Amino acid sequence: MAKVNDNEDMGITVKKQDDMPEWYAQVCLKSELAEYAPVKGCMIIRPRGYAIWQSIQDWFNKNIVQATGCKNAYFPLFIPESFFKKEAEHAEGFKPEVAWIDKEITKDSERLAVRPTSETIMYDTYSRWIRSHRDLPLKINQWCNVVRWETQATKLFLRSREFLWQEGHCVYETEDGCRDDTISYIRLYEKLCRELLAIPVVVGAKTAKERFAGARETYTIESLMPDGKALQCGTSHELGQEFAKAFGISYRGRDEENHLPWQNSWGLSTRLIGAVVMTHSDDKGLVIPPKVAENKVVIVPIIVGKDPGLVLKKAAELKESLKQWNPILDDRDEYTPGWKFNDWEMKGIPLRIEIGPRDIKDEQVMVVRRDNSDKQAVKLSMLKDRIDEMLEEMHSSMLSAAEKYLKESIVAVKEMQGLMQAIKDKKMARAGFCSSTDCEEMIKDQTGGATARVIPFDEKAKADDRCVFCGKPAKHIVYFARSY
Ligand SMILES: [Zn+2]
Repeated sequence: MAKVNDNEDMGITVKKQDDMPEWYAQVCLKSELAEYAPVKGCMIIRPRGYAIWQSIQDWFNKNIVQATGCKNAYFPLFIPESFFKKEAEHAEGFKPEVAWIDKEITKDSERLAVRPTSETIMYDTYSRWIRSHRDLPLKINQWCNVVRWETQATKLFLRSREFLWQEGHCVYETEDGCRDDTISYIRLYEKLCRELLAIPVVVGAKTAKERFAGARETYTIESLMPDGKALQCGTSHELGQEFAKAFGISYRGRDEENHLPWQNSWGLSTRLIGAVVMTHSDDKGLVIPPKVAENKVVIVPIIVGKDPGLVLKKAAELKESLKQWNPILDDRDEYTPGWKFNDWEMKGIPLRIEIGPRDIKDEQVMVVRRDNSDKQAVKLSMLKDRIDEMLEEMHSSMLSAAEKYLKESIVAVKEMQGLMQAIKDKKMARAGFCSSTDCEEMIKDQTGGATARVIPFDEKAKADDRCVFCGKPAKHIVYFARSY
């Protein structure tokens, strides 16, 4: 049978460095993570992409939901307009992007919002669930889709009208208890990014201008993409008591008096998959962090001569013995090994195992790492241990490469000229900031779009630090960057 040739066009046709938006779209499409839907602004998440989301969900349910005493639940997609408008600041903030179902369709006295987030419908319910301090803390998480009616061009995983996420919504007796937990959730998000996705992030608070609508404090994890744009990977919000007031949530305290509780909400979305693709992938295609790879190994038999029998038999045995890594055995006979190597590299399988007649004789296989192409002969007797080690090594080196990039991309600046240069150079600028919204707007204006991404938890402004824009004493250190 004629073999299909190693075909360049099958792969990614632009370089990451030359045209990142086009490269990104090609990686998502050609590695079969996702595709554009026939409905404008929407995306189809294919099984390979959805498997990454499920790995994130598994980790999250174990290490965040269960570990913090939270329960998963589900609330309706539609929210009555009267609920939506109860908390004025929240309603105002979401106004431009809510999709409404008109009264003609609802056949009711009011319109319905398609949820852009679920605070309002959940808190209406909470007002009936919460009676006593014994009902607190109440911790609920919901996995669902939300709709934000974007008018900008769709970017797979990064910007679409409908996306998948989780939203946690908790209620507490005390302000301190609420704040501590809000911070611990953002720290857990940081852990998820590092330990599961090999993505380092800067953790901290948002400025007033960038806060969630209706929140008194928003905490964020920000990562930096290879094109110098920051990507918000998750947020948690201290909501104070405003929603409790608006929705009539109160509880009878230990003192037998009625009290308003304190609330938070926290979320991360399928956007994280976009962060994974941009951070780790290369000119050959997708590189997936091993812990979220559905198939951690692909086995490619190397057939030499006319009798493939022995090699195929050994390869099938190998597949069986490596079951725990969910291996793919690529025994398609119409493709050459070289074509298969390219194909699986593009699809981002972490380890490739090659097995040919000589390997069988030597009781070994060749193992190749996707991230750095490192190739080594491994004795069959050592293979299982070595696979575990190599997957660990791969995770560590992906994380350190991303950490190195992040560290090298943060530039300390003292005045606007330096800040503008840093943004031009695709860096994240670290600057003193007076915290006035006017200065923030001027900075955005003068840099052509850089915004205050995060006030890092771990860095405090010194007495002689000045605002990068107005020169007044700095209240905070802020990282500025363009963003997704
Ligand atoms: Zn200022």
